Amino acid sequence: MAADNPEPIIAVGTIALDTVETPSGRVEDVVGGSGAFFALGASLLAPVRLVSIVGRDFSHWDDLDRPNIDLEGVRRTDGKTFRWGGKYRDNINLRDTLFTELGVIAGYVPELPAGYRSGRTVCLANIDPPVQLRVLDSLDHPEFVVADTMNYWIQSQKESLLEVLRRSHVLILNDEEARQLTGQPNLFEAVQEIQKLGPATVVVKKGEHGVVLAGRDDYCALPAYPLRRVVDPTGAGDCFAAGFVGYIQRAGSRSFDTMRTAAAYGSALASFCCEDFSIRRIKKLSLAELEERVESFRRLVHFD
Ligand code: AMP
Repeated sequence: MAADNPEPIIAVGTIALDTVETPSGRVEDVVGGSGAFFALGASLLAPVRLVSIVGRDFSHWDDLDRPNIDLEGVRRTDGKTFRWGGKYRDNINLRDTLFTELGVIAGYVPELPAGYRSGRTVCLANIDPPVQLRVLDSLDHPEFVVADTMNYWIQSQKESLLEVLRRSHVLILNDEEARQLTGQPNLFEAVQEIQKLGPATVVVKKGEHGVVLAGRDDYCALPAYPLRRVVDPTGAGDCFAAGFVGYIQRAGSRSFDTMRTAAAYGSALASFCCEDFSIRRIKKLSLAELEERVESFRRLVHFD
């Protein structure tokens, strides 16, 4: 890895109170949200300046308190924090959303602290696409824009999402969402369609089957890190984005080869996320542990 002092990543995403049920148990009103998972994960690799909003009912500040996470861009306001509920089936790859309560996210117009505006790398984690656009508009010179999204926004905010894509360099989404966005049942065709919409690089997450990373001329596929026991996969996608963008920022390069390694960091971070509920595992993870898992991942996928 190159840069010893990586520049901060500007990240926008939700901070949520999640209620999650998996075959391993149930947790209620625990910290979740794309912004929270992203910030905690990416902060192992580079500083993160988080843009988000919570209601006055949010009290878990200790969970987000990290030297590498700047929370000046997180607004606290009257109203309820975004809440999401999900239940996983016995086949843990299958999840049903039980509820999505936007709370303070509805009508949220982000204001960036002045110090954030010069940020060149931005992760538009999963949140309302008009909020993602507003963050982009607030930055002086966004050079490297990585966007994430989910089915909820593809259904409800497609026009704004297309504008986000026009202005993004990388899109991260799962295979179902890639098909939903393009109407293309074939994943290769879907990726090419997405590239025509803007992002030169598309990362398609396929749950326990790993990820596919597609540039305009390059292609790479990685398996998921094999875990014996998945306790709660919530946030794994956001942690993938965190490891991916965090590594690129730390390496100080945006070449396709860097992105290959970045995908391995993303997969390793996502695997830690699944080992416990909510942010519990990510919150106490060290960079040394992450690097060790990337190394064993390297041995796993290596062949001559
Ligand atoms: P993932 O498992 O990577 O899809 O991320 C799950 C996290 O995303 C949970 O912590 C939720 O609070 C959050 N989330 C769920 N629905 C949305 C949404 N529509 N927009 C933004 N974040 C969401």
